[in-house]
Amino acid sequence: MNRKSLIAAVIGLALLATVPFFTSNSYYVHMIETIMIYAILLFGLDIVVGYTGQVSLGHAGLFGVGSYTAGVLFMKLGAPLWLIVPSSIGVTALFGALLALPALRVTGPYLAMVTLAFGTIIQILINEMTFLTEGPLGIKIPKPSLFGSQLDEKGFYWLVLALMTLSLVVVHRVLRSQLGRAFEALRGSPVASDCMGVSVYRYKVYAFVISAGFAGLAGCLYSYSEQYISPNTYNFELTVLFLLAVIMGGRKTRLGSLLGASIIVMLPLLLDDLAMFRIVASSIAVLMLIGGAVAVLKKRTTSRAMIAPVLGTIALAGFAFWLESITDWRLSIFGLMILFVVYYLQDGIVGFVRGLFFRRRAVSVEEGALTRMEAAPDAVMVAKPSGSAAQGDDLLVARNVLMQFGGLKALNNVDLRIRRGSIHGLIGPNGSGKSTMMNVLTGIYVPTAGSIEFAGRSVVGRTSSDIALSGIARTFQNVQLFGEMTTLQNIQVGLHHSFASNILDVALHSPRYLREDRSATERALGLLRFVGLADLATEEARNLPYGKQRLLEIARALALDPQLLLLDEPAAGLTAPDILELIAIIKKIRDHGITVILIEHHMDVVMGLCDTVSVLDFGQKIAEGKPADVQADEKVIEAYLGGTAA
Ligand code: ADP
Ligand code: MG
Repeated sequence: MNRKSLIAAVIGLALLATVPFFTSNSYYVHMIETIMIYAILLFGLDIVVGYTGQVSLGHAGLFGVGSYTAGVLFMKLGAPLWLIVPSSIGVTALFGALLALPALRVTGPYLAMVTLAFGTIIQILINEMTFLTEGPLGIKIPKPSLFGSQLDEKGFYWLVLALMTLSLVVVHRVLRSQLGRAFEALRGSPVASDCMGVSVYRYKVYAFVISAGFAGLAGCLYSYSEQYISPNTYNFELTVLFLLAVIMGGRKTRLGSLLGASIIVMLPLLLDDLAMFRIVASSIAVLMLIGGAVAVLKKRTTSRAMIAPVLGTIALAGFAFWLESITDWRLSIFGLMILFVVYYLQDGIVGFVRGLFFRRRAVSVEEGALTRMEAAPDAVMVAKPSGSAAQGDDLLVARNVLMQFGGLKALNNVDLRIRRGSIHGLIGPNGSGKSTMMNVLTGIYVPTAGSIEFAGRSVVGRTSSDIALSGIARTFQNVQLFGEMTTLQNIQVGLHHSFASNILDVALHSPRYLREDRSATERALGLLRFVGLADLATEEARNLPYGKQRLLEIARALALDPQLLLLDEPAAGLTAPDILELIAIIKKIRDHGITVILIEHHMDVVMGLCDTVSVLDFGQKIAEGKPADVQADEKVIEAYLGGTAA
């Protein structure tokens, strides 16, 4: 977080703290309290929706679990606050793990359906398990005591504010840490995450569990806030509202969650009061008009792009004055506004405003790290040069590898021996099985038959992330970067393995975490320098030109400290000068003792770099040897001329 937003946040929270002094009307205090409680839940929901990119319609259910854990513990045991809060968080987190299970198998609309079913089942269970929950009768629960004294409405408000502030800090820290980067990475490219040693499986579960923890805290506070809970609160409508709040406020921003929470709490109330609604609608229209004009003048957007949002808000204001009575129109207006926001402001309100008035999301690179890196050149790779490779020392041995897709044998009894410290070329016409070989080596496919040993250990049947962590890194034929993340963050994902700190370290900013984080940032910057991208550290990966994206992918792979690096057509789509740079980089990588398997169509690259070349054709190895010999081989020439030569 940069300084300005930190100051803004502190001022905002301080203002919130003074609210009970300004108004004696407990209605407003309670309303803001509800907003803060929802915001806690939305911070968590944003982890799942905004960061990992999964849909959850199960969060009202989780909210209910938190509420009822509190309610039941109070009713049955008279448990105190200090016991109830952690229990609600813990129990709900367990349910979050349950909710994560479907997310491991399905995505998109299917996941939405399953999570919705989850929420519904929770609601039904609460209703039916009368012996525990009192069923439809509900549970009464008074405001809690803290340090021996019963909290009144104001006291509880401050407790909620304190816990929301704490949640804000924890969520912010988690999302800025290696955990947050893992969540974001699996949205950007699940395959690449796994191949960087960040298990998609594990981090999806983590995301749901952490998210559920916040839902549990929110639910628990909600019980105390309302002082009465019953099953029908935790219904379908609420779960949809939560999701909409995240989308309307804006993904991947805490301010967006707060805004979203305010909208879903206040809008229904606002729509009850015509005079108020008119004032708010016209203020929004005026703000939008001015803001839009400024943005167009500053060339942040085109006037065309602004037409719909500006006209929309003006129409809303006009409608507000035209209306005689609002009651009949409440739901329709609500629905239309939601539709409008979701359709026209896909980055949510915060994202939209940011896009208009601010430059790119400020990314905090610790300033010291940048300068320190200047001083320490090429502290890049940890792997030690293993001297000139010991002859006959094979790093990877594949025997009789068969990979069958239906009737197609993409790899047909291929043997491959990769000498430690060498650059091994893998060539062949399009569709000959080169990429399939890489996918088999990295655990993306499990070979139908055959064995693969890497550094003396079998690879077959292990997960991609496990294989990656054991020392095989790769790039992809069609670049797989984490597009919304900066180049620096992309590499930091590759450095995930260098973190031993857990969520507690992250939340508390323990010395261990700070140390690991600093060294990961420095190494990431070092790797960026290594591939010549140092001045693009804060640029989002998707904005890089294609050639630089390929280089970034190589740097990210190196972050894994691999023994073996697989490059799948790294020169494809590169300009001639870029290719020269690439060749120099690959040589440097080899000089650091990293073994390389290189798939490449550019013959000059292959000839200039490779110690040995294997040639595939229709899934079979047809030749192998020194580059010059292979190039002269008749079978190879025929394969290239006969096939769809590249
Ligand atoms: P190369 O990288 O040498 O151009 P590939 O390894 O990508 O070739 O593909 C080899 C063959 O395997 C192609 O015929 C391709 O269509 C097929 N293939 C690759 N992956 C799959 C898959 N997941 N399902 C079915 N066929 C596949
Ligand atoms: Mg390929």
